[in-house]
Amino acid sequence: MRKIIKKIFWYLVYFSGLNFIYNLFSGPRLILVGYHSVPAGPQDSQNYAMLAVAKEIFAKQISYLKNKYRIINFDDIARGTKEGIAIFFDDGFEDNFLIARPILKAREVRATVFLTTDLISQKDILWTIKLRYLKGASQETEKLIWRLKDLPLAQRQRQLAAIFSKFKNPLPKIFMDWEQMLKAVDVFDYGSHGVTHTDFDEMGEGELLGELRESKKEIEQKLRQNVTALSYPHGKYSELSVELAKKAGFQTAVTTRKGVNKNPDLLCLKRISVDPDDDMIIFRLKLGIYYPLSVAIKKFI
Ligand SMILES: [Zn+2]
Repeated sequence: MRKIIKKIFWYLVYFSGLNFIYNLFSGPRLILVGYHSVPAGPQDSQNYAMLAVAKEIFAKQISYLKNKYRIINFDDIARGTKEGIAIFFDDGFEDNFLIARPILKAREVRATVFLTTDLISQKDILWTIKLRYLKGASQETEKLIWRLKDLPLAQRQRQLAAIFSKFKNPLPKIFMDWEQMLKAVDVFDYGSHGVTHTDFDEMGEGELLGELRESKKEIEQKLRQNVTALSYPHGKYSELSVELAKKAGFQTAVTTRKGVNKNPDLLCLKRISVDPDDDMIIFRLKLGIYYPLSVAIKKFI
């Protein structure tokens, strides 16, 4: 019920012309549209849960962005571009190569993939997805994930190790490999999403600087691109991580703070997060008045 009321409210905002007026008068903005998976089939949609956007919806959104906006990349932002839309993917799922790449290529749109080097090298997969694969995607698994997310890192790792030791199934390949990524340079630029996908605010200074430098170096060597863009794993960052990212040579970095950017700190950029059930009206609103109005409403309630 709450969901329906919310939807009606946002439709009223859209059709009242408020969004149009907001866009007209809000001046130059940097909009970073973030995705994770564009799943190849229903099983992946279940396992990736909130990270998945169906390919038909993704194609529609990309066509819309291409027709309405200037598409830029993170190099443009680093060089001082103040207006445009950058499209990016976190984590480097294999479906970015198999499903998203042809859609982007057909529309001549480039995007940035932020990859986690240990995941790409198949040393591990994200623990949340691993749990869904091994235990099945169910409400019970989701509850377990939320409980584990609340634990401190060491305790979470101990519990996960105990759970995973009970399973013998081999892990599926869910991320792109280096060869696929090299092939996809026609469409993708690459940035760092760390080495291990550990939250940056859970790491010590030396460890974090090592992780930043190592991921940057490995991507640059393997994909022959200069890497200056970063996406904080789980969006977690602190003053220290911003300082160390700069020290390691990064010029732009994306957080999970939601919104559009006006004269931003380039190492703390906000994103538009696309959810699986966003229709085109909600998607258009998210590029405009959605987040500023949400913040204003929360202040009054
Ligand atoms: Zn991630």
